[in-house]
Amino acid sequence: MATQLAAEYAELGFFIGGQWTPAGDRKTSPVINPATEETIGQLPHATNADLDRALTAAQKGFETWRAIFPDQRGKVMKKAADILRSRAEEIARVATTESGKRIAETRIEVQMSANIFDWYAEEGRRAYGRVLPQRAPGTRLAVIKEPVGPVAAFTPWNFPLGNPARKIGAALGAGCSVILKPAEETPASALAVARCLMEAGLPENVLSIVFGVPAEISTYLLASPIIRKISFTGSIPVGKHLMKLAAEGMKRTTMELGGHAPVLVFDDVDVDQVLDACVGAKYRNAGQVCVSPTRFYAHEKIYNRFVDGFTARAKAVAVGDGLNDKTQMGPLIHARRLVAIEGFVADAVQHGAKVRAGGGRLHERGYFYAPTVLSEVPNSARIMNEEPFGPVAVINPFSDFDGVIREANRLPYGLAAFAFTGSAHRAKLLGEKLEAGMVGVNTFQISVPESPFGGIKESGHGSEEGIEGLEACLVTKFISEA
Ligand code: NAD
Repeated sequence: MATQLAAEYAELGFFIGGQWTPAGDRKTSPVINPATEETIGQLPHATNADLDRALTAAQKGFETWRAIFPDQRGKVMKKAADILRSRAEEIARVATTESGKRIAETRIEVQMSANIFDWYAEEGRRAYGRVLPQRAPGTRLAVIKEPVGPVAAFTPWNFPLGNPARKIGAALGAGCSVILKPAEETPASALAVARCLMEAGLPENVLSIVFGVPAEISTYLLASPIIRKISFTGSIPVGKHLMKLAAEGMKRTTMELGGHAPVLVFDDVDVDQVLDACVGAKYRNAGQVCVSPTRFYAHEKIYNRFVDGFTARAKAVAVGDGLNDKTQMGPLIHARRLVAIEGFVADAVQHGAKVRAGGGRLHERGYFYAPTVLSEVPNSARIMNEEPFGPVAVINPFSDFDGVIREANRLPYGLAAFAFTGSAHRAKLLGEKLEAGMVGVNTFQISVPESPFGGIKESGHGSEEGIEGLEACLVTKFISEA
């Protein structure tokens, strides 16, 4: 067991106001390695008294942190990024052990997280306001940006490092304090990120990490007037519920919710090259990615070739423990997701879909589901309407541009959309016509620290990263001096 993992799991706990809080006699729940089904630790749940301490810390921490100039705040964040990079391998192993995601992907996620801290460290220095032209002599009309206040953030298990880094980075860059409730499935990854910040000199009280029953913690924190903003990544139903709670206190929200990304493949592409990209993207983190490509529409002229090529590649994906370097796809996060995917596939088959590859569980132990390809799936099937969040590719044919655009935009989701074409004219049109917060044309790469990450329609609002990510943690104040 890597040192970092051993250290985190020697006694799981959480940080309140930067202080380590061990389990004591608190209620606990087991943390399970999804590749082996072994219990790797017992996670304590925060009590209401703990949450009160976290809220008091957030209030104090906000006053401390906002008073530190942005370039100094940036130094702490950059140092944390360097510490993260220096521990990349150990932290990647922690994230893989908890989440099942293969190690090649968690290694990238460590770098992504460090890059996010670097970005916000710099961008925090550019929270510019403006001075307006006078309307009378001797006056000054100024617009300034201020940190919104203490932020309550909730992150899921699918990016156990990257999601906490996004939420903490935006808040710290803007001068806010944070209470983060990471996913109970992947606690040590979030704790490892927090440790890097604390070792880099983040003042105590600025960051708290708590765990427990998600609905209880969010209800308690959102009821407090101390919290001024909530940032959530997760499912659409939970996002809607949290927005209602936020409305009670008119708190600002960033909602990064689910998607059901269409992929349009036209007949003027190098089919093999596009297939390699599509299959890699589809089975990344076993399909448990909010921007995962889920609905593939291949032009009828290349349809059979596309389905056959996808099927052959899916069957060749090596599924196993993510700690093994040869593994190409790990398990699902928990048994509930296995049941959910089985339900989607059974329902599709009942509606007439053809199972080209996979279609069932794998291995004796662990939450493994085979890389699956379904074709000719009617829109009446559930998987054509609900986010599958698993290793299932759905492939259907199309014949005309307008028809496939209508199909792509048919659902209430609007997170990511992708298209592959050799035509520059069509590429431009696709960028304009696809209804999504992020559109990848001839690429699945739709996220860098400089770019806004977020959805439209029911996929949420308020981007993370980019200048928009910082803006989401700032409020605007107009000062008129006479
Ligand atoms: P889930 O809805 O139980 O949990 C998803 C995440 O939301 C977890 O991290 C959980 O801790 C958190 N959560 C749930 N209820 C909450 C509440 N009331 N307050 C605060 N946080 C809360 O589902 P699951 O089975 O763990 O995940 C499957 C579903 O979640 C998928 O269908 C997918 O749509 C969604 N999901 C989306 C993302 C994303 O990146 N958008 C990430 C993970 C999960």
